[in-house]
Amino acid sequence: MSIRTGFLLLYFILGACAKPNESDQATGAGVADAEVVDNTQVQNRGADKDNWWDSLPRPEWSAYTKVDLDDDWFDVYRIDDEIYAIYEPGQFEEVISFLIIGNDFALIFDTGLGIGNIRNVVDQLTSLDVVVLNSHTHYDHIGGNHLFDTIYGTSLDYTRQRSLGSPPDAVAGFLQEGWIWKPLPDGFSADDYQSRAFEIDKTVSEGDQIDIGGRTLEIIFTPGHAPDSICLIDRENRLLFTGDTFYLAPLYTHLAGSSFDDYANSAERLAGLADQIDKAVTSHNVPVVDASYMTALGQAFADIKSGNASDFTISDGNREYHFDGFSVIVKGQD
Ligand SMILES: [Zn+2]
Repeated sequence: MSIRTGFLLLYFILGACAKPNESDQATGAGVADAEVVDNTQVQNRGADKDNWWDSLPRPEWSAYTKVDLDDDWFDVYRIDDEIYAIYEPGQFEEVISFLIIGNDFALIFDTGLGIGNIRNVVDQLTSLDVVVLNSHTHYDHIGGNHLFDTIYGTSLDYTRQRSLGSPPDAVAGFLQEGWIWKPLPDGFSADDYQSRAFEIDKTVSEGDQIDIGGRTLEIIFTPGHAPDSICLIDRENRLLFTGDTFYLAPLYTHLAGSSFDDYANSAERLAGLADQIDKAVTSHNVPVVDASYMTALGQAFADIKSGNASDFTISDGNREYHFDGFSVIVKGQD
């Protein structure tokens, strides 16, 4: 089994998300004690690297101030005065959750892998009530939902099914050798690791505006990566939170539950928002990218649909179309 075969097969099973881009400069910071692991799943994700984490922290993070908190699993960065990126660089997904603090309450956009206790971090950042809203309900975005009292979610069957929780075998792959370089948190038990059930207190719909006090977040349904993928637009501050619909890495249209056609429509829609935002806030690897990537995203899907995208590689029966800064994996077409 090739490196990529193993990787993609696992993603079919997990229904999970993102991956590193390969253009980073290795800094070595923060990983001095990491051992070189002879793993077959994630080796060779960057040139001349012994392990994928050798490139961490990714250079883009240097634009933001790291917040010193009492927690060993999460790295927290201040994106602006009221937005914190809660990053999990210790695990291969490099998933990022975002705490957005309003005058009245806070909203956390995703809750991570569920390996560390994200509530511990959030409680150090705000004393306000916190509402959970997921960018979508893949396992690496809902792991800490159960730690919070108030959860908003879509009314889709897909979301409801994920809210019921999943047994350990559904998420065990996240812990496999080579996927984690940080020590697991104190008290964490791999045997008990599962996707825990959570209760949706309020359903959200396209166009809903969530006023957290001093900031309004509008929901944009963007199915494709997952059936319940959403983005949030903060029109006043010209920010778009993309979830997994865009990040600087391979975009997945090929997972169980994914839809290329839906994704293409969502990409076109996000491209139409490019001139209404300055930045996009993304949920894996790198926290903030320029709004121009939304235009590029729309063009990428349009080019794939029309047959004009010619730069692709094939593995495991899927095509990976390469664009500047990201790629798109499409099922089949081999
Ligand atoms: Zn995902």
